[in-house]
Amino acid sequence: MLLGAIADDLTGATDLSLMLARNGMKTVQYVGVPQAGADFGDAEALVVALKSRTIAAGDAIDMSLAAARALLAAGARQILFKYCSTFDSTDAGNIGPVADALRDLLGGGIAIACPAFPAAGRSVYQGHLFVGHTLLSDSPMKDHPLTPMRDANLVRVLQRQTRHTVGLLPLNVVAAGPHAVQLALAEAAKSGHGMMIADAVADADLRVLGTALAEARLITGGSGIAMGLPDNFRRQGQIGTTPLPARMTAPAGRSVILAGSCSAATRGQVAGAIAAGIPALRLTPLDIAAGTQDAAGVAQWVLAQNANAPALVYSSDDPASVRLSQSSLGVERAGALVEELLGAVSIILRNSGFSRFLVAGGETSGAVVAALGAQALRIGPEITPGVPWTRSIGVPDLALALKSGNFGDPDFFLSAWDKLDD
Ligand code: ADP
Repeated sequence: MLLGAIADDLTGATDLSLMLARNGMKTVQYVGVPQAGADFGDAEALVVALKSRTIAAGDAIDMSLAAARALLAAGARQILFKYCSTFDSTDAGNIGPVADALRDLLGGGIAIACPAFPAAGRSVYQGHLFVGHTLLSDSPMKDHPLTPMRDANLVRVLQRQTRHTVGLLPLNVVAAGPHAVQLALAEAAKSGHGMMIADAVADADLRVLGTALAEARLITGGSGIAMGLPDNFRRQGQIGTTPLPARMTAPAGRSVILAGSCSAATRGQVAGAIAAGIPALRLTPLDIAAGTQDAAGVAQWVLAQNANAPALVYSSDDPASVRLSQSSLGVERAGALVEELLGAVSIILRNSGFSRFLVAGGETSGAVVAALGAQALRIGPEITPGVPWTRSIGVPDLALALKSGNFGDPDFFLSAWDKLDD
């Protein structure tokens, strides 16, 4: 194992794993901090998925350090700390505090921070993060319930989160190539900087940064920053090129779609699936709270559907309905009721012979995968940018597609299955 990554949420980890696998690395994703002696098979890159984005900074540090130690023990030469391409964080953390702790663990040195992901419309210029054509602070991220991003100047944002001095690695230096980047980083380190926000507006910039960082012990960024890293190991003769499979053999068993994401893309996919005639059961937090919907009843409904096609269970709803249940139950309870129910349904279905799960929603995926007990996932074919099929390693043997809310076309719930073989 050569490259160890720590992601601050589950679907972000899957996104990163897919990026590494697309660039030819044998990649395994691990859910939670790996236990001592865990078997990583022939993985060249290992991505540990944490749930540390919005927890207390101290807890995020402890978890991330435990993950880093496990990755180093498994042979990682380089640690990549992956966060969201919209730099989701608050002044209390957790990007800065976790990066500081990892830096200390890895013996200091300068680390870059680059959330850019031009293919998804995230670019960094003069240290400012743009979402499409707008500054981060003008994008919908300004109203995020947990991590509102109201300052697009990432040098300033990160400076508020770290005890080290933050500098800027500007685009003109990146455009001058890997050697110029290395010189600029060395200069910045000499003048006392601990972290540098790196500009990148195109994939070519990310590849330059990747090449320049061949010897870096710690790199931080979005999944885009991983684009150029596999080539470093390839140039050193450490890895070959493992192609991303076009298809995946799935374990025998029935299929189901579970959607707890209320994002616009997911709601479009729910509508698309229903319009195409997929049997669908709608859940609401209020019904769950009232006891009129429970895991046994929902699982029974799924089991009664056509065994040869997936059925859909969804709680996805429009913002007004979501607000209604949240105002009656509280934001956390409304979410937890859905997550717990979908987790419990997953267990019943797994025990009834279901082996193929398509899950929509980051938090929802976390709840379902935890309930199913899958720990290590091998990355399979790409369904849509950012979302691969995965197959769990060991027991239980499952095919899992974990979709972040905003990913995928309206026919995602229908077309994803085409990449699976019996
Ligand atoms: P996304 O990836 O789109 O952000 P998540 O699964 O991460 O999706 O988050 C959606 C959250 O909303 C989950 O906690 C989920 O349980 C909760 N939720 C799902 N449906 C509803 C609903 N109808 N009302 C309120 N909360 C809901």
